[in-house]
Amino acid sequence: MPGPIYSFGDYLKQHFEMRVHKVTVNADFSCPNRDGSKGHGGCIYCNNVSFNPNAERKAPDIAAQIETGRKIVKKRTGAVKVLAYFQAYSNTYASVERLRFLYEQALRCPDVVGLVIGTRPDCVAEEVLDLLASYQQRGYEVWLEYGLQSAHDETLHRINRGHTFAEYCDTVVATREWGLKVCTHLILGLPGEDRSMMLETLTRTQEVGTDGVKLHPLHVVRHTMLAHEWRKGGIELLTQPEYVSLVCDMLERMPASWVVHRLTGTASEDILLAPEWCAGKWAVINAIYAEMNRRGCSQGSAIEESGQIPLAYGPGKQLHRALCC
Ligand code: SF4
Repeated sequence: MPGPIYSFGDYLKQHFEMRVHKVTVNADFSCPNRDGSKGHGGCIYCNNVSFNPNAERKAPDIAAQIETGRKIVKKRTGAVKVLAYFQAYSNTYASVERLRFLYEQALRCPDVVGLVIGTRPDCVAEEVLDLLASYQQRGYEVWLEYGLQSAHDETLHRINRGHTFAEYCDTVVATREWGLKVCTHLILGLPGEDRSMMLETLTRTQEVGTDGVKLHPLHVVRHTMLAHEWRKGGIELLTQPEYVSLVCDMLERMPASWVVHRLTGTASEDILLAPEWCAGKWAVINAIYAEMNRRGCSQGSAIEESGQIPLAYGPGKQLHRALCC
């Protein structure tokens, strides 16, 4: 582990020995928790526009999206290769024929070395895992990102997730049996949860097994059920210091081998209602590194001791990375 946190960037550098970056594509998927097959209205915090600016428009051609994104990330980061990131809504929610058509459009694009597929854990058929495993066997990098958010069924019910922790467990076990990598999304500060519940989610996630994690603070964006509840005064949100402290508690306790794909989530100012600190990410990330330095801890150090932590990040182009599946 090169730094105090084993980031997705570190993983990609080690794995590819060159700069690799994600390019987000919108394949115009829907979500079973919105169209009625699992539920209506979606998760209480979900305004899908908040994590993909293309989500309201008709999806353009996958190859065209990747070509545009590839040029941008190459110029901005110097990336040599890219991963196609299917992010908006539930990106396994279609027939396997349709999925093959979409995924293979991406894989045929120049410089694409793999796929990152964001989806719900109750929305992945065995034949889809088989398809994705076949890409991995051909040498592509493949990650499944599953939204879990909490391991507590009462919380999942409270936020209208439409699935249980047991469904997440079954899917993660099956996915890893196919040899595919799993990144688990967790939200800190969900209604009704205290620190011990959040840490219990981490422990249960560890017991099931995962390869990576994305951490987000609960934040309120316009046009969501959460916004309605928040306006009525029924929602208490974490302060930035509370979030930073919780993230560090989790990092200390998670295996050093887990790839940390994200440390915080943001939303653009035009849709973010609260908390204000979720409008930016660098202050949060720097505060997390500073707190780890102050504690003298690193990822997994509560499990195994390790060394000093540099303050490694500075301001850059603001990218909004918000809650998703
Ligand atoms: S967060 Fe994901 S699972 Fe929940 S409603 Fe939105 S798209 Fe569907």
